[in-house]
Amino acid sequence: MAHWTRSLVLAAADSWWMKQLILRRGQWLVRRFVAGERIDDAIAVMRRLKEEGLGTILDLLGEDVSSEQEADAALAQILATIDAVAAASVKPDLAVKLTQLGLLLDEAQAHQRMEQIAVRARQTGLFVWIDMEQSAVTEATLRLFEALRPTYENVGIVLQAYLYRTMNDLKRLLPLHPKVRIVKGAYLEPPEVAFPKKADVDRNYRKLVFACLQGGGSVAVATHDPAIIAGVLSYCREHPVASDRVEFQMLYGVRPDLQRTLAQRGYRTLVYVPFGEAWYPYFSRRLAERPANIGFVLRSLMPASSQAPHQGIKAG
Ligand SMILES: Cc1cc2nc3c(=O)[nH]c(=O)nc-3n(C[C@H](O)[C@H](O)[C@H](O)COP(=O)(O)OP(=O)(O)OC[C@H]3O[C@@H](n4cnc5c(N)ncnc54)[C@H](O)[C@@H]3O)c2cc1C
Repeated sequence: MAHWTRSLVLAAADSWWMKQLILRRGQWLVRRFVAGERIDDAIAVMRRLKEEGLGTILDLLGEDVSSEQEADAALAQILATIDAVAAASVKPDLAVKLTQLGLLLDEAQAHQRMEQIAVRARQTGLFVWIDMEQSAVTEATLRLFEALRPTYENVGIVLQAYLYRTMNDLKRLLPLHPKVRIVKGAYLEPPEVAFPKKADVDRNYRKLVFACLQGGGSVAVATHDPAIIAGVLSYCREHPVASDRVEFQMLYGVRPDLQRTLAQRGYRTLVYVPFGEAWYPYFSRRLAERPANIGFVLRSLMPASSQAPHQGIKAG
């Protein structure tokens, strides 16, 4: 989506009236992208996806906490989530946002909290992805990953193709033989730090995937872009890449057809399953990625009788 359209959507999503509208009339659209508010909702979704041959990445929604107490509460909830999935015998990867653990308040404390998650996940046999957030925290996020990675092989990192800096960041991390999820980038970033044009982001995305594979890293190709996915598959056919060094990841509710096709063709494919009460910022980023999603929200303004039920949307 063009930079200005994304800015507009994110600004609108931040407004009081849009939140009210979505709370009152848009719950069905939220459920397309978010498994539910409770861990049991997420476990049910993950079990269903497993039946379709899909792995999962579980994300307890939350970010940008404003006090140490909130960060401690988030940590406790994430640890409880690990215990709950272990008790339910589902084995997802986990995704964590460092600002949910207080990165913007105190980096050392956030580090300690993240380490507790890495320890508990390792005891339970789970892999943890450190999500990448706005560019203001990129450097601190990388620092924390670099500190943890030598001890915790079960921790991976996300890099965003829209940032100019990312190729250098990748080169800096490669000596750690990291597992890297590459995404295009979901936050609103100024042209001083990020490519404004989609074509440049896409070009950088491919370069990053190939550089990571050539440099000994493992890659999670996290995109719904069929052209990029096809390019990665043909690269893997032409170059000797062990199959456990490449996997595909997509978001719950986005291109479920493509998710199933990749899994059926034998490629390891994981679906990112967010759950929790703090779903609004995640949901507004999903709206901003695609103009059609805004159309669905605006259509929900119409009187219920004039709407086709769940027009154009299929859950999951
Ligand atoms: C598993 C996973 C984890 C992620 N983690 C992070 C992270 O840590 N940090 C971060 O900044 N970003 C993250 N993202 C989001 C990412 O940066 C992009 O914003 C998002 O994936 C959309 O871009 P795209 O690669 O699918 O390509 P696009 O070119 O935007 O989309 C390609 C096609 O996918 C479909 N599509 C994409 N988005 C939507 C949508 N919202 N609704 C409906 N259809 C859609 C459309 O058919 C579109 O034409 C993650 C994405 C995935 C898949």
